[in-house]
Amino acid sequence: MAHSYDVLVIGAGPAGSTTAKLAADAGLATLLVDKARFPRHKTCASWINRLAFERFPYLRGHEAELIDSAFHGVTFLDEQLHRRATWSERRPSGYLSLRSKFDNGLKNIALRAGADFREGSGLAALEQTDGRVEIRLENGEHFAGRVLIGADGANSRVAALSGLRQGWSENEAVLCANEDLSYPGAEIARRYSERPPLLVGLRFDGLTGYGWIFPKRDYICVGIGGRLRPGERIQELYNKFFQAAQARDLLPGELAPQKPYYALDPAGAVNKGRPLVRGRVVLVGDAGGFVSGSTGEGIYPAMASARLVVELIQSGFGRGRLEEELGRFETLWRPRLGHYLRDLPGGEKRQQTVDHMGLIFRSRLICGLAARAFLYGEPPGLGSLARALWS
Ligand SMILES: Cc1cc2nc3c(=O)[nH]c(=O)nc-3n(C[C@H](O)[C@H](O)[C@H](O)COP(=O)(O)OP(=O)(O)OC[C@H]3O[C@@H](n4cnc5c(N)ncnc54)[C@H](O)[C@@H]3O)c2cc1C
Repeated sequence: MAHSYDVLVIGAGPAGSTTAKLAADAGLATLLVDKARFPRHKTCASWINRLAFERFPYLRGHEAELIDSAFHGVTFLDEQLHRRATWSERRPSGYLSLRSKFDNGLKNIALRAGADFREGSGLAALEQTDGRVEIRLENGEHFAGRVLIGADGANSRVAALSGLRQGWSENEAVLCANEDLSYPGAEIARRYSERPPLLVGLRFDGLTGYGWIFPKRDYICVGIGGRLRPGERIQELYNKFFQAAQARDLLPGELAPQKPYYALDPAGAVNKGRPLVRGRVVLVGDAGGFVSGSTGEGIYPAMASARLVVELIQSGFGRGRLEEELGRFETLWRPRLGHYLRDLPGGEKRQQTVDHMGLIFRSRLICGLAARAFLYGEPPGLGSLARALWS
């Protein structure tokens, strides 16, 4: 007979481990499942928004287990990496890590809260019957739960097996290349400063997207992501960005691309209105497309979507109306996260935004507003302006 839980969580990335931690804290019997063995690689630049630490205070005190270093503000570069504009702030704007480390730390926090964990075997089958969800793992183990949370990333099996969605269409995801290049920490501090910003090449070479250089403690993370034009290849774009960055002395000359990883990022996909809930199955994090449409940042939104679903599970169990409460997830994410996840506008408005990007390099004020929009998803306005000036 299948072992029973209140909550089954598939995927132990930021979305899954946050779901498991909060569900276990609420006293729910929770099983967290991941097909990988931890610590595991995840293709990601691993910039963790400060909001994650502000809004999930239980992470504080665990910094050594989760992160490598802090960054302060952002340096924008233009399409050819010629012009630069920097906005910086005194306190950390966020943190940098390796996802193997960050995700292993989050998973351990969930286990310490009381969640059970199965690793090394993926979800193979899923069935919803009579108020239960039953699953079978690739190793043959069976489990049953009152609710199942699909937190299994951009290529979600839960989405496919539950009938919610088979993959993403072309306009729902961007393609990315990324790698962390090992480099001496003292040299990184000398080159990029002790309090380095993120370096962001906006619309590099005309791409609808950007290239990035994130100076970490002992690594320099280099990557690029966006919507490719016909005939364009992400591998070539990555090499071009790398060489251009070296030519502008943004990267050490002796470095060379080693083994970049390529991955899909469902940037802004949640805005396309695909269903997120079916009966007792709910998609969170990348599985649901909870990624910023303008920056591709998804760690904090994954955690925020997890918190919302746990609140609904609790109220659903409390009122004896689980499916009804879960159904509210389809719309409730908008007031909480909608502005943060929005896409850059389309059509003419997009062109206007692109035209205005040049102002970032001419006006410190515009640079500050753009930086706060980029880092914190803040819409431009008086509040953002004040924070840009006095941070
Ligand atoms: C190149 C790149 C760079 C990025 N950089 C950043 C960044 O700097 N900052 C940021 O905030 N976001 C970034 N993102 C986005 C970020 O990586 C994701 O939004 C985030 O990882 C989403 O977390 P998640 O928990 O939903 O999914 P994931 O982190 O993908 O975790 C999903 C988990 O599910 C497991 N899994 C998958 N299938 C199964 C299965 N069948 N059974 C069991 N387990 C399964 C996987 O092993 C994995 O552990 C980047 C994305 C890319 C592609």
